[in-house]
Amino acid sequence: MQLKEVSYYQTGGTCDQWIVPGSVPELAKAMSRLHAEQTPYFLLGAGSNSLVMDDHWPGAVVMFSRLKGICTVHDRIIVEAGVLNTFLAEKCLADSLTGAEWMYCLPGQVGATVRMNARCYGGEISQIVESVTVVTRQGQIRNYPNDGIFLGYKDTIFMRSQEVVASVTLKLKPGEQDEIRRQMEFCKTDREKKHQLAYPSCGCVFKNDYTAGVPSGLLLDKVGVRAFSTGQVEISPYHANFVFNKGASARQILEVTLNMREAVYQHFGIWLEYEMEILGQLPEDLKKRISEVREPRPKESEIAPLRERFLAGQ
Ligand SMILES: Cc1cc2nc3c(=O)[nH]c(=O)nc-3n(C[C@H](O)[C@H](O)[C@H](O)COP(=O)(O)OP(=O)(O)OC[C@H]3O[C@@H](n4cnc5c(N)ncnc54)[C@H](O)[C@@H]3O)c2cc1C
Repeated sequence: MQLKEVSYYQTGGTCDQWIVPGSVPELAKAMSRLHAEQTPYFLLGAGSNSLVMDDHWPGAVVMFSRLKGICTVHDRIIVEAGVLNTFLAEKCLADSLTGAEWMYCLPGQVGATVRMNARCYGGEISQIVESVTVVTRQGQIRNYPNDGIFLGYKDTIFMRSQEVVASVTLKLKPGEQDEIRRQMEFCKTDREKKHQLAYPSCGCVFKNDYTAGVPSGLLLDKVGVRAFSTGQVEISPYHANFVFNKGASARQILEVTLNMREAVYQHFGIWLEYEMEILGQLPEDLKKRISEVREPRPKESEIAPLRERFLAGQ
């Protein structure tokens, strides 16, 4: 089997081992073994925020597709890492619980969603998490209360500690099914209207730079990044921060995104930060280019008119 068959973005080659634990203790045992053997590994949820590289991965890939336990206790839901966001939202609807409507049609699994503090449509996972059970790199099981996990925009302590999110307790509120359903439908329709789900992608390639006050998609749009599209890599006609895979390799996708980042820097002096996670074996030449960091030199005369237009349109 190839990683492209199980990753949302449909890239990735082969690997030495697949690890697909069926319970949290099994996950802990696997992590402990990987640590003891010093086997390189990476974690793969649904792959909807990741680009898995093409070359053979000489290590293990840990997946969560069998960690699908979910149970409701009054207004709390205890959910394992591999449950899809959409399924969780549907479960909340079935149990008349409000707070997770925004997760409907958000690609990906709950584990990775917590790890990166995903957000959309006014919701953010930090708002509904009560506690998180993780497995450390050494294979220990630990529990964290919400306090102190979430560090702001798409940032959590788990992105630094590399702990594995194993299960999550969410605290929701009782709600009216009709209203919950209406909000879920809004999220679905909006994503459909923006053609987000038309082809494999990883959502936004770059984070927003809040110091600029303009979404990265607008900066990318303004510099005409669509000219970088190729037959296999298409920058979405609807959202310049979405890069569709139409049969490309991971390298081809990365090359296009590097051009996008460069164009924004040349025009606006803003060095965009990748939101897309790169997993697997990154060839040396690409590693050097991807990890480059440049001094921001914001060209206010170029940014200000765009900011005004953006604020006026909100
Ligand atoms: C069409 C589209 C629209 C999107 N819209 C949005 C949006 O509106 N808002 C938003 O925030 N995101 C959005 N995304 C991104 C994506 O949906 C979220 O980031 C989602 O949470 C990723 O989940 P995943 O399981 O696919 O993660 P993956 O891509 O599999 O993993 C992401 C990272 O988390 C790590 N990881 C995976 N599982 C775990 C775990 N259990 N514990 C610890 N680390 C783990 C991986 O190693 C990787 O580094 C969009 C993506 C797509 C394709």
